[in-house]
Amino acid sequence: TYVVTDACIKCKYTDCVEVCPVDCFYEGEVMLVINPSECIDCGVCEPECPAEAILPDTEEGTEKWLELNTKYSAEW
Ligand code: SF4
Repeated sequence: TYVVTDACIKCKYTDCVEVCPVDCFYEGEVMLVINPSECIDCGVCEPECPAEAILPDTEEGTEKWLELNTKYSAEW
């Protein structure tokens, strides 16, 4: 899965949301999040993010972001 990280905070762009083929972006408290169980790992959103906030969860240091993405996307 891909995860949204802190560079998204206060970002006003939603380019990622528009390109996602499965609509798995959700609005968290201060940032967008990806629902890990819905993300199909297509990678389309990553280059669309102007803040470079979207990373694959295979990247080092993304564990806590995966947790937050899971948490905030589950409330919907
Ligand atoms: Fe959506 Fe693909 Fe990005 Fe996952 S990797 S959030 S499916 S655009």
